[in-house]
Amino acid sequence: MASTAKTHTADAIIIGAGVIGAATAFEMAKQGWKTLSVERNAVAGHGSTGGSCAIIRVHYSTLEGTAFAYEGYFYWRDWADYLEAHDPNGLAQFRQTGCLVMKTEQNDYMARHKGHCDTLGIPYEDWDGAKVRERLPIFDLAGFHPPKRPEEPDFGEPTGEPLTGGVYFPTAGYITDPALSAQNLAYAAAAKGAEFLYGATVAAILKEGGRVKGVRLADGTELHAPVVINVGGPASARINAMAGVLDDMTITTRALRQEVVHVPSPAGFDFERDGMVVSDSDIACYSRPEHGNHILIGSEDPPCDPHVWVDDDASYNRDFTEQWRIQAMRYGQRVPSLGIPSKMRGVVDLYDASDDWIPIYDKSALPGFYMACGTSGNQFKNAPIAGKMMAALVAYCEAGNDHDARPLQFRLPYLDRETNVGFYSRKREINRESSFSVLG
Ligand SMILES: Cc1cc2nc3c(=O)[nH]c(=O)nc-3n(C[C@H](O)[C@H](O)[C@H](O)COP(=O)(O)OP(=O)(O)OC[C@H]3O[C@@H](n4cnc5c(N)ncnc54)[C@H](O)[C@@H]3O)c2cc1C
Repeated sequence: MASTAKTHTADAIIIGAGVIGAATAFEMAKQGWKTLSVERNAVAGHGSTGGSCAIIRVHYSTLEGTAFAYEGYFYWRDWADYLEAHDPNGLAQFRQTGCLVMKTEQNDYMARHKGHCDTLGIPYEDWDGAKVRERLPIFDLAGFHPPKRPEEPDFGEPTGEPLTGGVYFPTAGYITDPALSAQNLAYAAAAKGAEFLYGATVAAILKEGGRVKGVRLADGTELHAPVVINVGGPASARINAMAGVLDDMTITTRALRQEVVHVPSPAGFDFERDGMVVSDSDIACYSRPEHGNHILIGSEDPPCDPHVWVDDDASYNRDFTEQWRIQAMRYGQRVPSLGIPSKMRGVVDLYDASDDWIPIYDKSALPGFYMACGTSGNQFKNAPIAGKMMAALVAYCEAGNDHDARPLQFRLPYLDRETNVGFYSRKREINRESSFSVLG
């Protein structure tokens, strides 16, 4: 397609206005960058952010991941102050319900997670089975590991000793409207001078003289900037391919289809009011309260379920499949009074999964081209701090520093703790400490 004349220049083009893209725009605009966010949808937050379970939790398998998530918690707690602008459409709400993680042999009874929390001063409580049942009387603590598919003959039969309890993290919860949180960030960014172009699809990355020059949109319009940042969510691999930056990446990203179940809470228990976030590796389900006294049930992706990889993030099966019923039935092992309605409700969306389920926040082999991607179903909570770190990374690299050789050391403001941004490198070795699941 013939390109039209250059219509726009900016200091930086940000591809994508999801929660991380909008946070990056906000943080860069605060630093004085003239940013232009390009989003193919009509509004912010309607990519994978809109389908997110938006759980804010602090337990991660690595120390760096735990510190990043705990830092992230404070921005949601202080949301209105953080934004420095009051969006007339309302603010996203953080419901701090806490998060209970069942202690199982698979997570080593949470020993490593508790060690990270002790190091970082993150509060937690050890709950025995009686305390779990007191707070969640609909729960049956029978052990069912390993997770199975309902067609297996012994599905639903207890396999071992009952669970002995869990670890409860009070600084956890969820955001009731994740798309609104991205819109809040876009509003706050615009108040700082950021521009947003909606309904515009990036079709090519432009280069000149060995560095990025801008983007070409699907309608042929060229937008020019010396910095371009890929925050395209599940489209990240396709955008990185457009930029020709895949070759030096040891970590790749791929879109992975997910189904999230919404079912009514059993009669007599108000899960929306009295429930909490729960992660249960014994049945490979996580759950949280959902609007209308529903329970939201996500999958912790057990080996018995095939991964459904998606090549084209703009076109995939958005209908529920048998997977919906499988997740509901697995959860029914823990909550025997659960009714499973015939009408399936919930969400179908995509993770942008990396090889080790840890994100990539990095530069690329193409000078001026950056990426915040591979968020692997677990970076919603980190969006504000990820945006802040991306702004610092771009400034560091554009000042001439070689981030690959001497990675940026970035101070997490609330924790007052340094983090090595090289942890998120596209060129890292696969991190063997990861859970290799959505838990990060
Ligand atoms: C089902 C599900 C449950 C999840 N649960 C949690 C959770 O409980 N807790 C948690 O912390 N995280 C969770 N996540 C992960 C979290 O939602 C993501 O990490 C986060 O939303 C990613 O934000 P983003 O801005 O990077 O991407 P997105 O929100 O996907 O935004 C990318 C944007 O880029 C746009 N785009 C793509 N290609 C182009 C193009 N060529 N031109 C222009 N625009 C383009 C898209 O339209 C989209 O709006 C979950 C994700 C899913 C799918």
